[in-house]
Amino acid sequence: MEPRDAAADILRAVEDSGNHYRDSIPMIASENILSPLVRKACNSDLHGRYAEGLPGKRYYQGCDDFDTIEEIGIKSAMRVFNCNFANIQSTSGTVSNIGALKSLAKPGDKITAVSTADGGHISHARMGAVGVRGLNLITYPWNEERMEPDIDASLSMIRENEPNLVLFGQSVFLFPTPLEELADAAHECGSKVMYDGAHVMGLIAGGMFQDPLREGADVLTGSSHKTFPGPQGGFLLSNSDDPSFHKRLNNSIFPGVCSSYHLHHVAGKAVALAEFEQFGSDYASDIVRNAKALGEALSSEGFDVLAEERGFTESHQVLTRHGAPDSGAGMMAADRLEKCGIITNMNMLPGDTKAMSGPSGLRLGVPELTRVGMGVQEMTEIARYFSRALKSEENHSSIKSDISEFKSEFQTVSYCFEPGPAYP
Ligand SMILES: *Cc1c(COP(=O)(O)O)cnc(C)c1O
Repeated sequence: MEPRDAAADILRAVEDSGNHYRDSIPMIASENILSPLVRKACNSDLHGRYAEGLPGKRYYQGCDDFDTIEEIGIKSAMRVFNCNFANIQSTSGTVSNIGALKSLAKPGDKITAVSTADGGHISHARMGAVGVRGLNLITYPWNEERMEPDIDASLSMIRENEPNLVLFGQSVFLFPTPLEELADAAHECGSKVMYDGAHVMGLIAGGMFQDPLREGADVLTGSSHKTFPGPQGGFLLSNSDDPSFHKRLNNSIFPGVCSSYHLHHVAGKAVALAEFEQFGSDYASDIVRNAKALGEALSSEGFDVLAEERGFTESHQVLTRHGAPDSGAGMMAADRLEKCGIITNMNMLPGDTKAMSGPSGLRLGVPELTRVGMGVQEMTEIARYFSRALKSEENHSSIKSDISEFKSEFQTVSYCFEPGPAYP
């Protein structure tokens, strides 16, 4: 292939990807879209710049304007998350986690976390950041009915093992973690407590989930692009008032794990924080209302929605089961849904053991749908599309064209200062 053609093909696929999402019902729980002002900050000259250090203390010249940006962003993060330390430099949730693990533990230390099979993130696993830091992982006993750590068994496990660090938070995250009791037990053993809110940062900031920094977490990490609707990146937050701990946290990001920390994304994050201050609590409550409505509607259509007795969800996610454990029914459902214009991901559920071919479930998220203006009524319509896609023999192309028409009414990003095209 000629290099010129390669570039053209790439740009065509970039455009096609945007069009694909524009015409579909995107339900990946970790995804979101950018507001026009955030997009403008991201797509700027800052893309090519460096600003190692902190505002006012840089290794390079030329950073005055970026100092302004980062200073405003830090202050705004401290207000949005109600804390007295914020680092907004990290380039992803995983990078924030590596930074936090570097600040809070040393190689050989013991850490407790949720296992990936129970919904923990790969960065909490041996094959991810926890392993990179050389920590010895012990996973919590799990309560499958309640989809949370088994409190009594986890309390005993923490007291018995006296880990150096106890880590909470999941990628499959329907309900708040019963944090206070567990954090108290951890502190009694001299452990530090870290809460990874990657998925739920927007819900936490919007007052709709839980408030980890007031429930015992020493450090809160998270992504800036899941329920928090900013560009891809991370947060590292704490309510400690110890300046030396602040310094340790800052150092864990730069020079710890970043040199360039993607200034255009930091500028976008700072704009997203300003927009969140204005619109975030409405956004967070609309997300949770929609997720509950989706759980209800799918259940009414006859789908097996998990955690019915707990009201299906208290977050932005809903889990559905499509067949027996290890049947791969979730994989097949995700495939059929995509052909019909609904983008989801298969997910392991309790009992599943094979991550690639066996998942029996789907994890569904509503942050993007909420952000383009969908409400409870649309959740009901989406559940009907699920029925047509998964419970009827209807040809996928007719469903797909109906979905594309349905979606055409939802093309504007809201909860931001200048609502505009969601898929420009
Ligand atoms: C998504 C996720 C992360 C990682 O975030 P990235 O920004 O994708 O690196 C970390 N922890 C949890 C619990 C997550 O769900």
